[in-house]
Amino acid sequence: MKIYCCDDHVELALDVAVDETGQFPVLERVEKDAEKLSTVCEYCKNNATYMVSN
Ligand SMILES: [Zn+2]
Repeated sequence: MKIYCCDDHVELALDVAVDETGQFPVLERVEKDAEKLSTVCEYCKNNATYMVSN
């Protein structure tokens, strides 16, 4: 799974990922400006800063 999230929701995204998979997720920063601008947080309307995956 992959969750994009902003700074405010990174902890929430980590919790959700752990709940759903039972494994500790990988947290990556969204580095590319183009990706940042085109991607919004799953939980609000801010641009995504992090991607949580596992
Ligand atoms: Zn957010």
